Amino acid sequence: MKNQIYFTPGPSALYFTVREHLKSALDSNVASISHRSSFFKSFYGETVENLRTLLKLPDNFQIFFTGSATEIWERIIENCVDKESFHLVNGAFSERFYKTAVAFGKEAHKVESIAGSCPEIDNLMIAETHELIGITHNETSTGATQPLEDIYKIREAFPDQLIAVDAVSSLPYVNIDYSKVDTVYFSVQKCFGLPPGLGVWLVNDRCIEKAENRMRRGKNIGYYHSLPTLYEKGLKNQTPETPNSMGIYLLGKVVEDMLKKGIDQIRKETNSKAAILYNSLNKSDVFKPFVEEKRHQSKTVIVGKTAVSSADIIQDLKKKGMTIGGGYGEFKDLHIRIANFPTHSKEQIEMLADALEKI
Ligand SMILES: *Cc1c(COP(=O)(O)O)cnc(C)c1O
Repeated sequence: MKNQIYFTPGPSALYFTVREHLKSALDSNVASISHRSSFFKSFYGETVENLRTLLKLPDNFQIFFTGSATEIWERIIENCVDKESFHLVNGAFSERFYKTAVAFGKEAHKVESIAGSCPEIDNLMIAETHELIGITHNETSTGATQPLEDIYKIREAFPDQLIAVDAVSSLPYVNIDYSKVDTVYFSVQKCFGLPPGLGVWLVNDRCIEKAENRMRRGKNIGYYHSLPTLYEKGLKNQTPETPNSMGIYLLGKVVEDMLKKGIDQIRKETNSKAAILYNSLNKSDVFKPFVEEKRHQSKTVIVGKTAVSSADIIQDLKKKGMTIGGGYGEFKDLHIRIANFPTHSKEQIEMLADALEKI
């Protein structure tokens, strides 16, 4: 269908400047040049620097590129865990990180909350032997957010463990204090509004040291995207493999646009657009916010439970030029999921909110 506005929680609507940057990428042969050329190194360096500035990333963090966030789950387990990991699970994505650890033969432990909520963090049964704690900041399958304060409290209680934060569908909206976490990751088809196929992995020196330590002890940390390899190449604005050059180029350009707009402005707009959507859900007879507790309600992925089949609602909205997401997995026909990403304008969100209220 033509002229749809995509409010799907990833892939989603492209950031509104992507079309123009795609053209400039084609004009300057980004997709054809060698990834060992000085042109590649220069836009790789720009993308990394722009991201550093946007996220206010401290110097002890590095930025690496992978194929996806799903890949990053594997790389984290492979590089940073000898035997045991611990996972806060509140939906399909956090469960998949846990399952990744199991697949790699680790003793993976988890605390689970019911869908639409987040694990309570008082009295977490985390042992000294659990080397890494996986936390999903924004569970895209349910629209539940683990508050940052929870993450910082976990850090205080367990300072020796590595903390890995899945911020796939909340960065750059979420304003993380990077001194209180060790690795954070996202993929670009969510809030950055870019074509899929690029994961971004932020890691501090503690993670890199752990991987080097594992390597010295003869443990398998993989090869092409092991942290020592990524670090060595990254220092030279290079990647181990022939990468998604186009994705890296476009990310740098979109982040530059976000810097011009200002991250504070993006955050403010995200909050006010989320309020509009939650307000519509609260007013409606057909919808209710799936996440009931306010402090767990996501600002970037708004999930409504529906009294009627969500498939019908989705069809209805499509006719009006708006594509929203259905429920995830078992909630397919019971939920609607709406992306509130930086590219979605206040006018677009208001138009959607109006349409929802009329259902
Ligand atoms: C989309 C998503 C992922 C997986 O990202 P891919 O790019 O598909 O690998 C992981 N975690 C969360 C919270 C997500 O929303």
